Formats: sequence, structure tokens, C-alpha cells
Amino acid sequence: MQPHNLLLKFAPAWATISSNDISVVQRLCEVSRFLLMEIAKQFISSRQTQPIMMSVSVDGTPLMTRERWANSAGPSSVRRSGGCSHEFLVGRCFLRDSAGNRAVLFREPISLGAGKTSWHLWSACRSICRTSREYEHKSISISHYCFDRGIHSSLTGIMQSTHALVAKLQLSHTSDDPMDQILGLQDWVVDTACCCHDAHNAAKWSVAPLTENLKQTNRDLFISIVSVRNAYDLLVQEMGPWLAKTLVFSDDGMVDAHAVWTVLGVESSWVDELVLLQLHYKNGLLHIASSARRY
Ligand SMILES: [Zn+2]
Repeated sequence: MQPHNLLLKFAPAWATISSNDISVVQRLCEVSRFLLMEIAKQFISSRQTQPIMMSVSVDGTPLMTRERWANSAGPSSVRRSGGCSHEFLVGRCFLRDSAGNRAVLFREPISLGAGKTSWHLWSACRSICRTSREYEHKSISISHYCFDRGIHSSLTGIMQSTHALVAKLQLSHTSDDPMDQILGLQDWVVDTACCCHDAHNAAKWSVAPLTENLKQTNRDLFISIVSVRNAYDLLVQEMGPWLAKTLVFSDDGMVDAHAVWTVLGVESSWVDELVLLQLHYKNGLLHIASSARRY
């Protein structure tokens, strides 16, 4: 199967992989990782003299991984395997030029086994992608970083220093050409704190006084929100084909539509709309008044 078709096969959230698929998925990940990196590099190098924007966001994320241990002493050996929770830095980078062309760079999660200080995160962040100047870009470059609010100020400060250092190194290689000065001045670093983390913490703090088991409540909340999100995605996905198949415009409206909707407890402002639309089911089809066709 072509890599493109394999990606489509494994991409949906509901896709599951059998043990036979694992090696296929591993190879697919490696190929995609390499391909995205090459596309990103090419995106920047083919626009060396055009303004571009790089938006990099990273998040510390605990992930379950499968680990295997083996130990042997003389003729005896022991093997164990099991699930392990580790902290990883998951990052993505979005590129855009002034004409609106885009590229995206996803990288593999970087293990944060050595710690979670700003310097650890900076090191992991640097292995996700470099600055545009390091890919030989020479025009206006906007670098946007998004970090969690907890480490946002310190990590952004280190990133700004990194950009300044790269500019300085590049300038020291060359003469005092005025264009070199512009190279440093045209490298703009901006940042925002991660709003998803803000929302998560706000939700946690708001329910804390109402529950005795905050961990379990957070877990329940997470499952509820993800379920609602999945349901919404499914609705959006199925809505178009479903409407095309079942929607018909007709004028055989419902008898006493106003009374029916009112008895069903629908708010009066909605009742008027529903009466106007003559919305009703008949023979498995959704009927709507032909006068609504103009909408
Ligand atoms: Zn975040």
C-alpha cells in the first residue's frame, strides 16, 4: 500500500493497530518524520529573501510507553515488560510565507528523562527545529513561540538569547556589510503563553472546592470533554452526506405546528422559527418548507 494510503488508514482517532501493523506504523512514522523535516527545510531555503513566519509550540506531556527489561547472571536470565509513564516534550512548528503558503513540521516526542527545567526544555525544543537563520534565511523572520505559562517567561528569554547568539555568530563571519546588521534586526521573536494550559488550570481550580477527589474529577472531566469533542467531530463529518440524502423541500406542513412545538417545551423564539420552516419528518425524510430554500 502507498504511504499516503497507509497514513489515511491509521490517521483516524478510532483506528486500531494489530501487532502485525506495529512495524508498518513505525516505518511510516520514520518516513513521515524525515519527509516533514525535508519539506520544512526546503520551504525556508526556497524563500531566503522573502518574509516568513515560524510558529513553534511545545508542551510537556506524560505518555504511556511500553518498556522491556532483561537481566542475566550466568545461565539464568529474567525478562520483564510493562507500561511506563514518562514525560515527553511534544512539539510542532507551522511555517507561513507572505503569500499565505504553509508547511507544517511535526516531530517525535522528545524524552524529558533528565528533568523539566527551562534548560532541559530548551534543549528538547532545539532538537524539534532550529531558527530560520540557521536554515540560511535572510529576510524578515517572525519567530513565534508558545510555551506553558509556568516556564513561559524564562524559556522565551533563553530563546531570545539563542536568536541573538545565532545573529552574532553569523555577523562575525562576515565583513561590516550593512546588510549583516539588518539580518539581525529583521529577526523578530514574539511569544504567547499556552491558552490550553490556562483553560485546564482554570477548570481544575474552579472544581477544586466542589470535590474531594480532584484527580478523579479531573479525569472524569477530561473524558467528558474528549467525548463531547469526538461526538462533535462525528456530527460534522456525517452532517453533510446525511442532509444531502434526507433533506427535501415541500409544502405539506405539519398540522398545528405551533401547538406541537409549544407542548414539547421548545422556547417561544425557536417555536416561531420551527413553524416558519415547517420542520418535520415523514417517511424517513426531513421536510422543510420550500420558502426556506433561499436560506
Ligand atoms: Zn500547553
